[in-house]
Amino acid sequence: MRDDLKSLENKIMNIRNDFPIFKREINGHQLSYLDNAASSQKPSIVLDKINSIYSNSYSNVHRGVHTLSMEATQAYESVRNTVANFINASNHEEIIYTKGTTDSINLFCQGWAKSNLKKGDKVVLSEVEHHANLVPWFMLRDEIGIVIEFIPVGSDYLLDMNIAEQVIDKQTKIVSISHISNSLGTIVPIKEIIEIAHKKNAIVLVDGAQSVPHETINVSSLDIDVLVFSAHKMCGPTGVGILWAKKSILDKMEPVAGGGDMISSVTFDGAKWNEIPYRFEAGTPNIVGVIGLGAAIDYLNVINFSELSQFSHHLSEYARNELSKISEVEILGPNDPKNRSSLFSFVINNIHPHDVAQVLDAQGVAIRAGHHCAQPTLNKFGFSSTARASFYLYNNIEDAKQLVDGVHSVISRFT
Ligand code: PMP
Repeated sequence: MRDDLKSLENKIMNIRNDFPIFKREINGHQLSYLDNAASSQKPSIVLDKINSIYSNSYSNVHRGVHTLSMEATQAYESVRNTVANFINASNHEEIIYTKGTTDSINLFCQGWAKSNLKKGDKVVLSEVEHHANLVPWFMLRDEIGIVIEFIPVGSDYLLDMNIAEQVIDKQTKIVSISHISNSLGTIVPIKEIIEIAHKKNAIVLVDGAQSVPHETINVSSLDIDVLVFSAHKMCGPTGVGILWAKKSILDKMEPVAGGGDMISSVTFDGAKWNEIPYRFEAGTPNIVGVIGLGAAIDYLNVINFSELSQFSHHLSEYARNELSKISEVEILGPNDPKNRSSLFSFVINNIHPHDVAQVLDAQGVAIRAGHHCAQPTLNKFGFSSTARASFYLYNNIEDAKQLVDGVHSVISRFT
């Protein structure tokens, strides 16, 4: 192993101790948690923060003048700065709290796209999208008549960038694209796509659900227009996500949900909207969830998560290489490791992915089996379901070996 990877391996031994779940055994085995693309585990520092807020500083936020409300508001609002710094956004007012990536995309479709696009305007997606970046656009197409076109994925599991140049044309108003495919592991060349789109005056929404947890995404240097992601895949709680967009874009976005907090004044005749970002956040928010996201980001920064991601990638490559030696196993994803992330999908001849996942679970290995909310992508490659292993910063070489041994025993069990 390379020296730099060796030192990361030592670091990971400590990281793992930060996550109480790894004290658990699953079916008599050490837990090999390889379902990180679906959701990550949570470190004590996040769990403690949640407990401490509920125990010591809990109250509803905004407008309260009592001590607890002011403390909760301060903790909740300060996370906007934490998130803005994390993605290098220039203005904390551009950070909108949502329920997750799916909610962020729906808000953007209904809030921005519905009032800024008209019948015939083109939206470009890719053939490797999660349903969260397909269905909201289909709903909008049915509502206002936008045209949706796709950047195709080739048999090499990469997006066809020559066709991207043609599909993204002058009619294109927005390109909405995953940074990393959650089903194939393909890393999408977003920098190139942003350059192409901007030349045609189209804006770009990046679905960072699978990339933000693993690497620093700098919205300013990449010149991203809109970035969405979920807290629960990056050591934070469920039910919280982020919609970040350039202020000039948010200025043209309409609120989708009405109610408390999103107004500046209400009469019996109507309402005036609050300032950005509050006008997009109706009702009592997920106060403790947001504060938990702040703790998760602080944690990721302290452990230098981008550096640790190299090790997750190394583990994924190790497991992939070992599994590729097994003749019954077919692995999906690009050939060049540079084009793939730390997750991969695989199938075993004549064994259903659910059976694979079940036998692995009996050995303490947690993977996901199914369509991964990417039915069109899997169908394109002739699958309705795959098994998927996805690695994160607390995984170690034993986890990868447990997966490989597990796959061997799946094959001997079923053949
Ligand atoms: N986009 C991608 C690429 C994803 O992987 C996921 C989660 N699997 C989502 C969107 C949806 O995220 P959430 O369920 O947190 O809203």
